[in-house]
Amino acid sequence: MNKLWNNHMHCEFSGDSDTPMEDMITSSIKAGMYGITLTDHLDLDYYSSPHRFDLDIDSYRKHYDSLTDSSMYNKEFEVLWGIELGLQPHLAEKHEEIISSYNFDFVIGSTHQVDKIDPYFPEYFEKFGVKGGVRRFFEVTAENIEAYKNFDSYGHLDYIIRYSDEAKKLPYEEYSDIINEILALLIDREKALEINTGAFKFGLKEPNPCIATIKKYKEMGGKLITLGSDAHKTEQIGVGYDKISGILKECGFNSYFTYKNRKPIEYTIG
Ligand SMILES: [Zn+2]
Ligand SMILES: [Zn+2]
Repeated sequence: MNKLWNNHMHCEFSGDSDTPMEDMITSSIKAGMYGITLTDHLDLDYYSSPHRFDLDIDSYRKHYDSLTDSSMYNKEFEVLWGIELGLQPHLAEKHEEIISSYNFDFVIGSTHQVDKIDPYFPEYFEKFGVKGGVRRFFEVTAENIEAYKNFDSYGHLDYIIRYSDEAKKLPYEEYSDIINEILALLIDREKALEINTGAFKFGLKEPNPCIATIKKYKEMGGKLITLGSDAHKTEQIGVGYDKISGILKECGFNSYFTYKNRKPIEYTIG
């Protein structure tokens, strides 16, 4: 199997990880990654603790430079610098100010908050119910993509189902209308769809998004796929990576992409 890139992972600069950046890099080499992109969280206005995910971007960059300029690891192993933006419609202008001020290689857009609640917390499904909660999540996802265009790949599109055992059983068909609307927006804006293998940590049998959604993206004309395990700890780096080539082929793709200086680079799978 070809070595694959991992374009979604977190380290100590994310509010929910305390893994040193250096450890993520050295463990990624050991885990057999082709290269990696660090994508620490920026989630402004995070409802339950408003500043928990306020990424210190200058320190994040400085530390990245200090490690990648040193000779601590083989220079042939490429480490790129990215960010995962927690989208909310009212943050579009603020995000643009930030993204245009730094030279990120790669920007992931994700939905982590819906009407000021992260579905990670049980109160989300208590408030919206299971079906209502999943649907509301996808509606807000579409609103987020409409509101903010300056990202490269959309992260873990059906993230919501990680957090409810009931939601895990709901098929793509239940929400295909709104999911297809989201896919059409991504394709129209030439955005990549991420295959996020972090799903396997949550007992899911398919990545986020599910296979049916990835197939639909292909069928509708989507060409750009990015890969990531959403690791927050070193032992999570290779989660689900043994399944990726099979998933790509099953969905009709023979390549995936990484982004460098915000430009897509294609990698063919063997
Ligand atoms: Zn995320
Ligand atoms: Zn993430």
